[in-house]
Amino acid sequence: MIFSLALVVAIQRGPSSPRFDDISAKRMMTHVRVLASDRFEGRGPTSRGEQLTVAYLTSQFKKIGLEPGNPNGTYVQSVPLVGYRTRPKLAFNIKGKSLPVRFPEDFIHEFPQLTPHAGAIGAPVVFAGYGIVAPEFDWNDYKGADVTGKIVLVLGGEPSRPDPKHIKNLDARFFRGDFRTRYSMRDYKAECLRKMGAASVIFLASAESPKSFTIYKTFAVMEGLSLPDWNLNEHKLITTGVLHPRTAERIFRATGFELKDLKRQANSASFKPVALDATADLEVDTSLRPTSSQNVVGIVRGSDPDLRNEFVVVSAHWDHLGKDPNLKGDQIYNGAIDDGIGVSQLLEIARSFKNLKVKPKRSILFIATTSEEKGWLGSKYYVQFPLYPLNRHVANINLDGGNAWGRTRDLIVSGYGLSTLDRVLGQAARAQGRKFLQGSIDDDGLYFGSDQIEFARGGIPAAFPFSGSDYIGKPKGFGDRKWSEYADRDYHQVSDDVKPDWDFSGAAQDAGWLAIAAYKIADEVQRPRWLPGAELVVRRLIP
Ligand SMILES: [Zn+2]
Repeated sequence: MIFSLALVVAIQRGPSSPRFDDISAKRMMTHVRVLASDRFEGRGPTSRGEQLTVAYLTSQFKKIGLEPGNPNGTYVQSVPLVGYRTRPKLAFNIKGKSLPVRFPEDFIHEFPQLTPHAGAIGAPVVFAGYGIVAPEFDWNDYKGADVTGKIVLVLGGEPSRPDPKHIKNLDARFFRGDFRTRYSMRDYKAECLRKMGAASVIFLASAESPKSFTIYKTFAVMEGLSLPDWNLNEHKLITTGVLHPRTAERIFRATGFELKDLKRQANSASFKPVALDATADLEVDTSLRPTSSQNVVGIVRGSDPDLRNEFVVVSAHWDHLGKDPNLKGDQIYNGAIDDGIGVSQLLEIARSFKNLKVKPKRSILFIATTSEEKGWLGSKYYVQFPLYPLNRHVANINLDGGNAWGRTRDLIVSGYGLSTLDRVLGQAARAQGRKFLQGSIDDDGLYFGSDQIEFARGGIPAAFPFSGSDYIGKPKGFGDRKWSEYADRDYHQVSDDVKPDWDFSGAAQDAGWLAIAAYKIADEVQRPRWLPGAELVVRRLIP
């Protein structure tokens, strides 16, 4: 009886872990001040800022005493890239009239073909609703329509319907209700249309969040980066693009449709693609620059003779948006929260692990990824060309955007319910006397928004932890206010800089939380696994 009780307690707590109390807020602040300094030029991949950042991280990895993460004896993995600068030209022809749309005010490209010129003149225009084919929900927006050579307009997001029992909530059995599935992602929709031979896909930016178009614009006027195109003989889209909501409304109106009516139709399973009485001329000129960047990698070796060849991956992206010489005033995207803090947490977790007297059974692989901001390119490349066999990577904890305002009583993750990592994260939170919230912050598809999604698509159970919002010694609502101020004012802006009121005691405690979780995962013989339903999020785009 006593024995079984002890067993129950042991299962609830998992393997015991050190407390990682030596993780230091002060050291983290020092790292962030360096990484987010103007000298580092916003850490743009392939820039001088990259050289400084990679040199800094490599020297820190050495100083900590990490083993080189690359079997070739270095701390870097080279990532081949192609830089592109693109000028798209788009005009709709409606009832004998040409309706040009302006770049970048009304229309931006996202991922162009990696060729100097691509285009289609007089291409038919079709509205394809959400652009989703999801057999498990009996959903097909194309209904066999031929989209070959056409320019296809597609809504962002995915269909939803009210929960019949709680009419205010969305039905969780239908496209996961409030949570996003992989079907909502633009790369999934573009890949579908590429396979169907479409000329191009143009996404309609949401009128509810016009800010999102502003953020697309920031990227479109900069140099884009892509992994090289390895499938030279396949059909390509001319580009993927995004249309401003105001422009979309104007085009639909000119062809006799109201966007809001079409949106309503698109939410019904009986929706069929709508051919607009319009053609479009799309031309894309792109200058290309073959280049490369680097993931920075280091290892704390595990203690078990067999399991030390398996890895728990702790990741954070070192890159940010770089420098934009066209901006007036401040031109440097310092990226202090995004992801200076995450990288500083990674460095402190690594240092604390290295100093442990007794290491966990498995090894910890620390990866500071490149080009997350350009579409998770460093992690995407790592999963395609891993430094060790992919099936020896047992879990990923990805740090992106840390807490700058002090200690919290609670903790939350994005992507709750996807894998057994939740159990371990809960144990680690309780080991610190903190509350792990049973839920997820996913509304805007956050889980799809950083490197963890690439590790997840590679089959590796991946967690995207956040901090909490219940701040110790602060008034109610303080945390929510700070996070929404950050989102509105500083996220992906030149103002994401170190602020005078910052307090890293919380970020240090959160790093401790994740170190405890990483230790438990590394020390527990059983590997983490996906839970039923996770395939709606993490399965590769098209089988
Ligand atoms: Zn980030």
